[in-house]
Amino acid sequence: MSDFLLEKGNKPVWNKVLKAVGAPIPTKLKRLKGGWEKQILAGKKVGYGSANGGINSAVFNSVFNELGCSSPVSAIADGEKAGALVFDATGISNASQLKSIYEFFHTNSIRKLATCAKIIVVANVIPKSMSGSAEEYYELCTVQQGIEGFTRSLSKEVGGKGVTVNLIRLSNAKEATDKALLPYIHFLLSDGCAFVTGQVFEVNTATAPKEIAPLEKSLSGKTAIVTGSARGIGEATARKLAAEGATVVVLDRPQDAEAGKAVAASINGKFLGVDMSTDEAPSLIADFIKKELNGGVDIIVHNAGITRDKTLANMDANQWDMVINVNLNAIIKTNKELLKQGLIKENGRIIGLSSTSGFSGNFGQTNYATTKAGVIGYVRSISQTTADKKITVNAIAPGFIETQMTAKMPAMTQFFARRLSNLNQGGKPTDIGDMITFLASPGASGISGQIIRVCGGNFIGA
Ligand code: NAD
Repeated sequence: MSDFLLEKGNKPVWNKVLKAVGAPIPTKLKRLKGGWEKQILAGKKVGYGSANGGINSAVFNSVFNELGCSSPVSAIADGEKAGALVFDATGISNASQLKSIYEFFHTNSIRKLATCAKIIVVANVIPKSMSGSAEEYYELCTVQQGIEGFTRSLSKEVGGKGVTVNLIRLSNAKEATDKALLPYIHFLLSDGCAFVTGQVFEVNTATAPKEIAPLEKSLSGKTAIVTGSARGIGEATARKLAAEGATVVVLDRPQDAEAGKAVAASINGKFLGVDMSTDEAPSLIADFIKKELNGGVDIIVHNAGITRDKTLANMDANQWDMVINVNLNAIIKTNKELLKQGLIKENGRIIGLSSTSGFSGNFGQTNYATTKAGVIGYVRSISQTTADKKITVNAIAPGFIETQMTAKMPAMTQFFARRLSNLNQGGKPTDIGDMITFLASPGASGISGQIIRVCGGNFIGA
């Protein structure tokens, strides 16, 4: 569970030794402690640039002002370090205009970035059908995909410094208001975004907030159920949701009641003992919501998950069934029951746990990768059926996260899995908790049907 290079590399004597042998020493990431803060840019240098024809700069200035920065600059002065860089690329419509993105980030290059700085590029969604002339259409699709390639590569170049780079794609940049952009810019420039890099966030401007979304205690008055939250990622998520003001139900197997009750007590939450692999799990949860949560829940996080790794030749039917039941069937059946009974409130949030194995597959994980890829297909499709109730459905695909699940891996596998990330290290359960908390927040109403990888930019096999 511990990363030798991260632990020792940040100690002066070891640092010299490890550097001398050329070891890749990871930067200690700055992570969010406690709940969200609004004025995340106060005291930081902020760089802002845009391509011609993009969103009115007044929109961005209003967002920066809200976050505590009244004077962003187009070029960070020599000797100064930027805490955040934001570039509006929505005006780019042909390949030649991509030069503006080069110019901004070349001027404000890695030498002018503070450790653990945050970078955002704002662009347009790739149009699904043709509009305008054929040439305009294919050039627009080309540059939008190109911008994604740029951000993913930049993420790799600056990751060693703990810097993250993410792309926001707007469905309609002309509709983009400060209120719509604020929650996304707030999260992606905050220390909650420590291990999220090289990612794309597609924002539907039609469903994005019309009012200023709460950026402190953003979940006050909300209720949340987190399955499998007696430990690991689930526990970290329960704690993060509670820190933002939610009343959290810690759900875990009855045999884990002691640990689950302790977590629940420490966050003023409630414990619910349910084995998610059983047929009665959905009705037990439904009854609990009716009795204990006044008939409705705002947020459900389907985190409970197991591995039973074996090559297919050696995998017995029980190892297949267990993984399918807990990781996939439990999610489908529970949502079906809760939606049928109207127990997920309007503006609710359903968040599932996928995995990078769901994108790339993994040796010895045909059962696990089937379920985690299944979650991707499920989220993309069911989100279309819940839109009328303004319920968003998304999933997180963690990369290598330091938990009991990954501690079971052979030591060398752990070592290499960490080094595959752009940030040169594994993530922490709190990184997933922070991302889930953002998706659960009122400000994330414009994101649905998406899979966000919290993997440090590890794109192997994707
Ligand atoms: P973990 O093994 O540390 O914790 C899993 C939790 O789920 C435990 O509290 C366990 O008791 C609970 N659980 C298991 N079976 C259950 C059941 N039948 N009913 C109710 N609760 C049950 O795992 P983790 O690393 O915290 O993983 C959490 C989720 O994240 C899983 O869905 C996992 O697949 C996913 N994930 C983890 C990683 C990683 O690197 N750790 C990577 C990708 C995806």
